[in-house]
Amino acid sequence: MTTPYHGRCTCGAVSLTIAAEPLWVRQCWCRQCQKAASGNATVNALFTTAAMTITGTPGWKGYRAASGNTIEHGFCADCGTPLFGRNSSRPDSWVVRLGVLDAGHALAPTGAIWTEEAPAWAMIDPALENWPRQPPPPAKVD
Ligand SMILES: [Zn+2]
Ligand SMILES: [Zn+2]
Repeated sequence: MTTPYHGRCTCGAVSLTIAAEPLWVRQCWCRQCQKAASGNATVNALFTTAAMTITGTPGWKGYRAASGNTIEHGFCADCGTPLFGRNSSRPDSWVVRLGVLDAGHALAPTGAIWTEEAPAWAMIDPALENWPRQPPPPAKVD
């Protein structure tokens, strides 16, 4: 399956359609993501917001990262499913938690970031591009 991608939270109060390919798909092992993903990495696909159509109203909770940027996690306010992440440094694109997307797509992480914060037991595929901390931002999209 390719575009459009479809996804929904567990209860269905929030659903989305994405009419573009992601800029990247990565695991994130930062400590905040471990809290969001019950100890594991989050798996995130970055999409331009222009390509996303969202039905329903996600909740958002934010914090100030060490970089000074505000990071916000979006979730279903009814069922709590983690849905999105956004960073004040790149307001035109959000990450979608990969588990939100309907099964059948072929998206998979090609990189792992913040691996220096991963727990000792983490199994990180050596075939993935590995960034100990935050990688540089993606190239500007036309
Ligand atoms: Zn829900
Ligand atoms: Zn993270």
